[in-house]
Amino acid sequence: MAFESLSEKLQNVFKNLRSKGRLTEADVKTALKEVKMALLEADVNFKVVKQFINSVTERAIGQDVMTSLTPGQMVIKIVNEEMISLMGSETTQIDLKPANEITVILMAGLQGAGKTTTTAKIAGKLKQKGRKPLLVACDIYRPAAIEQLEINGKKQDVPVFSMGDKNNPVNIAKAAIEHAKTNGFNVVILDTAGRLHVDEDMMQELENIKAAVDVHQTLLVVDAMTGQDAVNVAKTFNERIGIDGVILTKMDGDTRGGAALSIKAVTGKPILYVGMGEKLSDLEQFYPDRMASRILG
Ligand code: GDP
Repeated sequence: MAFESLSEKLQNVFKNLRSKGRLTEADVKTALKEVKMALLEADVNFKVVKQFINSVTERAIGQDVMTSLTPGQMVIKIVNEEMISLMGSETTQIDLKPANEITVILMAGLQGAGKTTTTAKIAGKLKQKGRKPLLVACDIYRPAAIEQLEINGKKQDVPVFSMGDKNNPVNIAKAAIEHAKTNGFNVVILDTAGRLHVDEDMMQELENIKAAVDVHQTLLVVDAMTGQDAVNVAKTFNERIGIDGVILTKMDGDTRGGAALSIKAVTGKPILYVGMGEKLSDLEQFYPDRMASRILG
């Protein structure tokens, strides 16, 4: 489970802090040095760690904390608040247009990140909200991708629009939106092609789709287990095509948690959902406060 080791280390630091009646500045600095080490070992982006420790230190070495009756507790509270803020404070939902309009959502991500699976998971969530989603197979390079989307769509009882692999993704997206208009769908979810690495053709294709159709939300799927690579991928996609939010998959297998703690701070874009398993029901809304509680124990 995510954050196991980070959580354990932070809890040890906090146990020490709590056990002290009064705290000196040196006590706080030592404790925060340990927090810093734990975050770095959890593969949190080093600039993010530096900023985080600076913010906590600034607040923790204040008069109010040092003279309070429970200074250890105060420091822990500050770490908790700063950690929530690091992950974006608020829970962010997918932004949807009113139900009488069509919301187009573009799903992007590298191959293997979990994009096709997540696309179907999202369709399920939107259905639960009373929306009528249509899944669209825009990955024309891997015939298996179309098939996989169709299988997942069937499981979610959400129709899949496909034109095989002979049309280009821009035309498929346009045709899908027309199909949605005439068939009463109000969310069109485009499952686009990924590549093994960030590459020019993939980015160009995403740009072409965004130039041709009115994409309302661009969601990026990244694999939590790839740590800082996931953060770099998110940064690159955001700079190149612009993203509205991130879905962090495979959190069930990520023992470190560095991506979850870095993405918002590095890209400015929130994590909307986390993938917690291979089943189509394994997608959870991302709550920065709950995540911080999970980490801090
Ligand atoms: P794509 O190439 O990005 O479309 O990736 P897929 O949707 O095909 O997913 C790649 C693999 O990751 C599949 O075996 C999925 O079952 C698996 N996967 C996707 N999301 C999660 C998740 O949240 N947790 C786990 N454990 N596996 C996941």
